[in-house]
Amino acid sequence: MTVHFPFNNTYARLPDRFYARVAPTPVSGPKLIRLNRELAVQLGLDPDRLASPEGVEFLCGRRVPEEAEPIAMAYAGHQFGHFVPQLGDGRAILLGEVVDRDGVRRDIQLKGSGPTPFSRRGDGRAALGPVLREYLVSEAMAALGIPTTRALAAVLTGDVVAREMPLPGAVLTRVASSHVRVGTFQFFAARQDVEGLRLLADYVIGRHYPQAAGSDRPYRAFLDLVIAAQADLVARWLHVGFIHGVMNTDNMSVAGETIDYGPCAFMDAYDPATVFSSIDQQGRYAYGNQPRIALWNLTRLAEALLPLLSDDEEKAVAEANEALGAFPRDFETAYHAGLRRKIGLATEREEDPALAGDLLKAMAENGADFTLTFRRLSDAAAGPEGDEAVRNLFINPLAYDAWAARWRERLAQEPQDGASRRAAMRAVNPAFIPRNHKVEAVIQAGLEHNDFAPFEELLAVVSKPYDDQPSLARYAEPPEPHERVLRTFCGT
Ligand code: AMP
Ligand code: MG
Repeated sequence: MTVHFPFNNTYARLPDRFYARVAPTPVSGPKLIRLNRELAVQLGLDPDRLASPEGVEFLCGRRVPEEAEPIAMAYAGHQFGHFVPQLGDGRAILLGEVVDRDGVRRDIQLKGSGPTPFSRRGDGRAALGPVLREYLVSEAMAALGIPTTRALAAVLTGDVVAREMPLPGAVLTRVASSHVRVGTFQFFAARQDVEGLRLLADYVIGRHYPQAAGSDRPYRAFLDLVIAAQADLVARWLHVGFIHGVMNTDNMSVAGETIDYGPCAFMDAYDPATVFSSIDQQGRYAYGNQPRIALWNLTRLAEALLPLLSDDEEKAVAEANEALGAFPRDFETAYHAGLRRKIGLATEREEDPALAGDLLKAMAENGADFTLTFRRLSDAAAGPEGDEAVRNLFINPLAYDAWAARWRERLAQEPQDGASRRAAMRAVNPAFIPRNHKVEAVIQAGLEHNDFAPFEELLAVVSKPYDDQPSLARYAEPPEPHERVLRTFCGT
């Protein structure tokens, strides 16, 4: 019995210039590392068949399902601020779309499945390390409740890919609510292809923002919705200490999902200037720059959409500016609301942002671990006996004491009792994130010993980020100084 993929494709119905039809390039000796069975079921796929030798052939691109219409999507993008008029899927192939159990249309894409007409100088392949990283981090983000693409499977290809050194090749099967990027709009705008631009906007409105279709200015409504979604997304990143690492406009989904996990990582000690990516030497995509960069990227989207906003250029620019003007508000609102929840405030007071901001400032000055501080603060919220565990995270514990005194005054004005406050805080302050030194250790075990047990264990831990999991408590610990991993690589 063969694997049945209930594809129901729409992007492949768009005109030819939106993509290139291209099949995956066969690999020599595929071996399944992991299948996300729950996600398979959600997508209407049979997990047992997918895990069979035949299923794995599909998951590595050695065979193409009969119902698939494999395409590489065309897009452009600003990379580190420089516009590249043609990028496109250079190492990814969209097999098709399925409508999942909740009625949501989702893309199934192979990443690392061989060259496409958009590969430029690349080999179209992915190395094992980045595949494991994307699998872990995207699934952790999903478990944290942050909009993200998902990982359906990771497969070793049996082939070697040439990077700085030869590395085992792998393919990630990625699931996304779509793969349309800010850069996809830029692709058509750069070609002054207004018809293509309109088709794309109509497509995205139909797929992601149907509420915009009913507006009297649907493209403006669409832009507003993308801006709001992105503001919310970046606020959520900041709440968990996530650093995307390559927020180029081609790596920003217009559906508002986190996409394209490259040199991404979670911060240990809180410092807004934190950068992990080896290629981000200026710190353009540092943790604290992410809201600013999101707005910069959205400004590029608004520019691309100008011809749709109005026939009158001046009016179009005014519309775009008005829409972009909402971003700082949208972001601040989402960011401060999340911070209030993180410090256990159920009601809202004018001075709350300053209170939360002063905690962050003290954390930054005292090298306090971001995740542990907030997690332990949840216990301190139930009563001062929890303070000791938090204050120990600060180089100078008195900095915490001073803040905690103000915090407790503020908590005294709250209607909640300590126990319910603690429970509410534990539901938003994770115990577990995929700490970078753990991710690196998992990758090394896979690379050096072909051992994926550490990968499985870390994946299990980060899939339940808000549970204590006492037997796995070591995964909650920050790195020892000698374990610290300060750089991550794209692996491209
Ligand atoms: P990224 O930095 O992963 O977002 O990729 C930027 C662009 O480079 C995209 O167009 C990718 O498809 C392309 N690319 C990255 N790695 C490869 C590769 N190994 N082979 C071909 N194209 C690649
Ligand atoms: Mg990309």
